[in-house]
Amino acid sequence: MLKDPMVVNLLTDVVEGEENLEIVKCLIEGVSTDEEIAEKTEIRLNIVRKVLYKLYDQGLASYKRSKDPETQWYSYAWTFEGKEVQKQLESKSTHIIKSLNVELEIEENNMFFLCPNEHTRLDFEDASQLSFICPECGEELGFEDNSKKINKIKEEITACEKVYEAVCSSK
Ligand SMILES: [Zn+2]
Repeated sequence: MLKDPMVVNLLTDVVEGEENLEIVKCLIEGVSTDEEIAEKTEIRLNIVRKVLYKLYDQGLASYKRSKDPETQWYSYAWTFEGKEVQKQLESKSTHIIKSLNVELEIEENNMFFLCPNEHTRLDFEDASQLSFICPECGEELGFEDNSKKINKIKEEITACEKVYEAVCSSK
């Protein structure tokens, strides 16, 4: 699971740093208590705990609490929620595809005007309100051919759709 770059990306965000992925690795391997994980990874116990709760917070880990009959202390057995990773990757890529499509629609349905010194980029309405003059430098705004930008967004959408399909088919 940790060989998939999408998974690594998602988890690195949650655990705040690639070095903490070792903790996730332990969980996947079935090491279940914070102390054992700390020992195995040589990561400080308080950091291990923090990371476990971060994972828990994101639904990526769960725990079972049990009381030691002798010491009366509680111990926590942690489990990694692998299915949740799949779900989150799916919703993440759906979200990205949606916002790229919104961006594409804006680019396709608007004309844009650009300052030659790249201070401003405005749509027709905003540019005409300023009489097509850049408020920063006073240069005239020029019509921008945004077809390259449109193509780039389309390419990104195709790439994201591929990722999405890969995520869905790896179930
Ligand atoms: Zn300007």
